[in-house]
Amino acid sequence: MSRSIIPDLASSEVWFLTGSQNLYGEETLAQVAEQSQEIARALNAASDIPVTVVWKPVLKDSDSIRRLALEVNAQDNVIGVIAWMHTFSPAKMWITGLDLLRKPLLHLHTQANVALPWSEIDFDFMNLNQAAHGDREFGYIQTRLGVARKTVVGHVSNPAVTAKVGTWSRAAAGWAATRELKLARFGDNMRFVAVTEGDKTEAELQFGVQVNTWGVNDLVEAVDAAAESDVDALVAEYEELYDVAAELRAGAERHESLRYGARIELGLRSFLEAGDFGAFTTSFEDLGGLRQLPGLAVQRLMADGYGFGAEGDWKTAVLVRAAKVMGSGLAGGASLMEDYTYDLTPGHELILGAHMLEVCPSLTTSRPRLEIHPLGIGGREDPVRLVFDTDAGPGIVVALSDMRDRFRLVANVVEVVPLPEPLPKLPVARAVWKPEPDFATSAAAWLTAGAAHHTVMSTAVGLDVFEDFAEIAKSELVVIDKGTNLREFSRELRWNQAYYRLARGL
Ligand code: MN
Repeated sequence: MSRSIIPDLASSEVWFLTGSQNLYGEETLAQVAEQSQEIARALNAASDIPVTVVWKPVLKDSDSIRRLALEVNAQDNVIGVIAWMHTFSPAKMWITGLDLLRKPLLHLHTQANVALPWSEIDFDFMNLNQAAHGDREFGYIQTRLGVARKTVVGHVSNPAVTAKVGTWSRAAAGWAATRELKLARFGDNMRFVAVTEGDKTEAELQFGVQVNTWGVNDLVEAVDAAAESDVDALVAEYEELYDVAAELRAGAERHESLRYGARIELGLRSFLEAGDFGAFTTSFEDLGGLRQLPGLAVQRLMADGYGFGAEGDWKTAVLVRAAKVMGSGLAGGASLMEDYTYDLTPGHELILGAHMLEVCPSLTTSRPRLEIHPLGIGGREDPVRLVFDTDAGPGIVVALSDMRDRFRLVANVVEVVPLPEPLPKLPVARAVWKPEPDFATSAAAWLTAGAAHHTVMSTAVGLDVFEDFAEIAKSELVVIDKGTNLREFSRELRWNQAYYRLARGL
């Protein structure tokens, strides 16, 4: 039974807007309408664009543009707009509408034809196919108004063009998800920890997420209320999906611990469903009447699309939820991750990441093992957990820090590698990766940027989606990838310090 809260992105709409004006006359405007419908159809047919593209009648005056912007804002399932000026659409007509628009915008700079029919071109053709200057007029007004947008250039038959539209539409879906996200915290941040703190009021303004705290014993009540028959069914599901350790199986000495793990999952899930929460945090310092630190339950809820942060880290939980939605339908996954320890062998440096329990099994295509082991942290009974290795392949880790006057996203492009050697004595899920551009530059840049030890690791979506997400969110994003040079990176941080203060105004 699927309990996934990862939306099918096809249920989200992006409206396709075409700008023109009445000057052209009926005949030309009919051609504009027909050709813009073809463009919208091509976008809809592109397999790398997961959302539904909806063509809208050609916009020819300020009033209809203003009304359309209001309509876009008002509809929850419309997550953004694509705009194209097939002909010349005088941009003062767009000022009020663009100023009102509160959804992500992609400016598609395209035209109906690929090659020019050189020997056929007359002035009617020139009149009809003039995005080359219509879109320049539109670019000017967007820049003058400071409108955050993505600009994509090229014909829609070019796969690079639809890929970019697809990337942006995933980011827009992530944005829509954070705008409506409710996050439940069980307990506060881990005592004395700095980087997991942050301004929850500012986060609601910038990302839309509502972050609120519940007493952990509210959760304990839900855990204790789980029905025995539901526990039976869930344990049976575990046996089907995972290699369950012999000591945890029915009749074995530690089976009761597995049943309690199932109880935590049932209680947590019912609590989250009842409150319509899409993300949550736990704290090992505040477990109330819980007999185990939630491990297996958290792992399985993340796999179903819930955002999660450990030790009260709500900022990382927001990123995990956004990554889950942005990666909808793609291979790979997203999880809370923590940089734990290094292999510093010169030239072969590696990062071993894990958490004490809570890494999401969406990072593996292998069959996880369900095990129980002691855990000193939390001071409760031994917790059950899934153990697996993250699949090798490209990935990204992204952290969110509160820099006092703003949030800063830091992304590092990484390559997840196979375990160099088995880890028979490490009973937690893990990932081993090589950061770009090299270990020393990556770690120095990460530390210089003040990025956190908790991240979202995504193997489903990469840097391009997070870049579009940051642009939509008007959030600072600093990138550590193969082009990173430490001197320039440090300068960028200083410039950003000034820029993001100035860009906010007073
Ligand atoms: Mn941690």
